[in-house]
Parts: sequence; structure tokens; C-alpha cells
Amino acid sequence: MARLGSWIESHPEGIYVRPADAWIDPSQPKARAWVTHGHGDHARGGHGAVLATSATLAIMETRYGPQSGQAIAYDEPLQVGEVSVRFVPAGHVLGSAQIVMEHKGERVVVCHLPTALLPSQPNWPMSKSFSCWTPAPVRTRPR
Ligand SMILES: [Zn+2]
Repeated sequence: MARLGSWIESHPEGIYVRPADAWIDPSQPKARAWVTHGHGDHARGGHGAVLATSATLAIMETRYGPQSGQAIAYDEPLQVGEVSVRFVPAGHVLGSAQIVMEHKGERVVVCHLPTALLPSQPNWPMSKSFSCWTPAPVRTRPR
């Protein structure tokens, strides 16, 4: 049996959501990027397509110029590949979001917290880009 959340991979350049072929807050240009908020260590230019809140997209366009962006409202459900995704308020900066993802009966939330504030979770790959996965992935239905 695969480890819970094994469909999400932590890489030096960001978090890769394999069944959606999407990257969260990638530091390198990617075909599909989901951006949690407008701070420069999360929102970068050059992506093929960006999914973010309208405020985050506006911040990115101010900084990097026009984006191939799709605005998503808080709590708006969206299906991308095999993942249902929804952005919820993060209370960090204007437009900031936590990303709630569900896939094959598991739910993972990517939030934004300094890693120093997190309890140690030895089984959890943690992005070096300060995004974290919390809470631990949960099953939303039995296998
Ligand atoms: Zn930030």
C-alpha cells in the first residue's frame, strides 16, 4: 500500500502534484503552477499557466507582467486532472491561500508556515520553499 500522500512529491523547486501535473509555488518556470500567495519566494514569473486567487494574480502581474492566469475564488471547487482542488484563506497576506487537494480518497492541505514552526514529522517530506503539508493527509473514504 502506498504511503498516504505519495501522489505529492517534494522537490527543491517546489511541490509536485503528480495526478494533476501541477507544481505548487515552483521556483522554476513550469507548465502549470498553483501559487499560494504573492510573496516573491512563492510567486514567480514565467509559468505556462497559473492558478491563484485574483489578488495573487494581480500581485504577480504587477511584479512580472501579464500572466496566463486563471483566478480561483476561495472555496471554489475545481477539478484538475485527477485532483479536486480548492483554495481556502490562509490569513497570511492579501489573496493568500492554503490549497486543499483530494485524490483517491485522500486529502492533503498545503499551507504556508515557516518550517521552524512545525512539529517534526519525520515521515513527511517538507518543501525547502517554506510550504508545508498540514495536517497530515487523511483518508476521506475507506479503501
Ligand atoms: Zn509569504
